[in-house]
Formats: sequence, C-alpha cells, structure tokens
Amino acid sequence: MEEKVYSYVIVGYGGMGSYHVQLVGQHKKLKVTGTYDIARNRQEAAEKNGLKVYPSLEAVLADQTVDAILIATPNDAHKDIAIRALQAGKHVVCEKPVTINSKDLLEVMEVAKNAQRVFMVHQNRRWDADFMIVKEMYETKKIGEFFHIESRVHGANGIPGDWRHLKVHGGGMLLDWGVHLLDQLLFMVDSRVKSVAANLSYVLGDEVDDGFSCFLTFENGITAVVEVGTTNYLPLPRWYVKGTEGTTLIQDWDLRGEIVKPFHRGEKAEPKPIQAGQGLTKTMAPPSEQSTIRLPIQRAAANMESFYDNFISVIEGAAEPIVKNEEVYRVLVLLETILKAATSGEVIKDFDL
Ligand code: NAD
Repeated sequence: MEEKVYSYVIVGYGGMGSYHVQLVGQHKKLKVTGTYDIARNRQEAAEKNGLKVYPSLEAVLADQTVDAILIATPNDAHKDIAIRALQAGKHVVCEKPVTINSKDLLEVMEVAKNAQRVFMVHQNRRWDADFMIVKEMYETKKIGEFFHIESRVHGANGIPGDWRHLKVHGGGMLLDWGVHLLDQLLFMVDSRVKSVAANLSYVLGDEVDDGFSCFLTFENGITAVVEVGTTNYLPLPRWYVKGTEGTTLIQDWDLRGEIVKPFHRGEKAEPKPIQAGQGLTKTMAPPSEQSTIRLPIQRAAANMESFYDNFISVIEGAAEPIVKNEEVYRVLVLLETILKAATSGEVIKDFDL
C-alpha cells in the first residue's frame, strides 16, 4: 500500500513561513502544497517559487485535500487562525509564541481536543546543538550537579522588522526570544520554578521591551539567569554553566567553548598569589594547570526525532508530541510572571504549575 503524504499549507509566507519550506524539504510524508498570505508581494513570491497560492484563508480551509497548516503570521493572528483551522478539521503547526497570553492557548487547546486534531507549537530551539549539549551535560552530570545556569542571546541590531515593535501584534523580545530560552530551561531542569525576579529593557524607546534579564530559582536549588538583549555590541557567552564538578562555557551557536573541571591528584596544590590591580590575591588566582582538566565541547547524541517526523508520528498516533501543549502553556505562564515581576519590582513565588 502506498504511504500517505500529508498536504501542508503555509499561512503567512514571510521570513519564517518560507523557511519552513526548506525545513519540510523532501520529507517522505509531508509536502508543502500551497500558501496563503495577506500581502500581495508575498503571494507573488510564493507563486514565483512554484507554490500554489490560495486567495483566502477560507479557501485553504475549504480545500478537502489539505491535511494540515502552518501558522507563521505575526503573533496576534495565531489564535484566530488556529481555532478556525482546527474547527475545519486541519492539523495545525503554530509558530512561537503560540499566543500572546496563556488564556488564549487554553482556548486553542480545548478546540483541538474537541476537533480531535493535532496542534503542535514549533518550539524548535529544543533541537539547537548548543542546548542539546548543555541538556546532555545536565542529564549525564558531566560537570556534576548543575547549580547555576546562565543562558543569553545578545545582539546589537535592536528589535527587527515592523510588527515586532508593536504591543498589539505581540511584539517585544520577551515574547520573541524569551519563549525560546525559557522553553529550553524548563524542558531541561526537572524541577518547578520557586521564584522569579526580572527587569525589562526599554532603552530603544519602543512601546515593547527590547530585551530583559530574569533571575529564576528552582525548587531543587538551581539558579538561572536568562537574558535577551538587542543593544549589546559586545555579547556575553550563549551559555555559562556551573556544576559541582566543573564549569562550562559555550560562546555561540558555532559551539566554541570549553569545559574546565577540577583534577584531584593527591594533595591539593595551594594556588600562588597573583598581582591583581593594586593588590595581591590568592582567592582569585587562576587554578594551576595541574589542578584542572580542560575538555572540548562535543556534540550531544541526537536522541530526538526531528520536529516534522514527530508531527507526523503524532498525527498517526505513533508517538507523543516532543513539544507538549501543557509545556508550552507553562512557558507562557512563566513569561507572564516575568512581566509581572518586572513591572512590580517584586520577587514572585508560587506561580509555577
Ligand atoms: P514576517 O513579518 O517575516 O512574516 C509574517 C507574514 O505573515 C507576512 O508575510 C505577512 O504579510 C503575513 N500575514 C500577516 N497577517 C496574516 C494573516 N492574518 N493571514 C495570512 N498572512 C498574514 O514575520 P516572521 O519573522 O516570519 O514571523 C512569523 C512568525 O514566526 C512569528 O510568530 C514569529 O515569532 C515566528 N518565528 C519563529 C522563529 C523560530 O525560530 N521558531 C523564527 C522567526 C519567526
């Protein structure tokens, strides 16, 4: 028997929508068959790229040959398109942030449940190589038990594009990059968040945040700094992680970095004092070569099926979603708490699910 190939239509053929055409690529069971975008130039671009162009969302949803759609529009449009598509019997992949508040996601989840359709959010950075390395280290205890994690993305180009500058479209960096970094953290650390303190940055004068810093404490004692910046001409490293048996630094997505671990060989060598500014210090002297081991950053074993393989497996009832809607919901609740903590200046506790 011939295997079914699911027909997939991209709604919102902008930067990310067109990237999904590459992501789906030559998938054996999923084929991008068309697009719909409200902008005429994007409709023309899709046509030029050989894709079928639908005149309206209604036309996409009325087409019985379409099995699933991707939503890659600005954030505020996700909810309405998702609900309509699910009610029309389509499976849905939705770009992040899934909705601009957690309540809206609950509504979409209810509709998906009633329609018995798959609704999955493209929280793709769970597959990033740098994150997978850190997650594997967490699980294998390569640097012992983690006790402090710093996860950052620092750029210097301000808020990109047009709609990301506006509240009404769900703009701002907390909803944009914040979703990714917090999703990674909650996916990795197997503990509830105990408390959150946060600060949002508005230095560019937009009505939405151009970055943020937050400090999280987990119930298992791990602390984390998560930071997104768009005004950082000198970026800090992507990851800085301290464990009971060493420290890891990953500079960037190119995976430059290293692991330094203590090396216990007989008696501990006393560090020699160094000249530091106008004084001497032994405490801050670098550990001697003999008392540490330096290890390279190595790629983690790929142990998750790809996003689209998983989407198809979930449709066919053969797997659980890797990105679960309840997890996506938990991230949105955390985002809302960060916003509240930043606005009130308070440390917020007892909010995690
Ligand atoms: P974009 O502005 O490049 O593209 C959005 C497109 O949607 C535009 O072509 C616009 O004309 C179209 N559009 C707007 N309203 C529409 C509607 N109601 N129906 C159909 N089309 C509509 O934006 P982008 O950077 O591609 O972002 C789109 C989505 O993808 C956002 O939710 C964003 O957060 C997400 N995104 C995710 C990642 C990721 O790594 N997962 C990366 C970038 C963007």
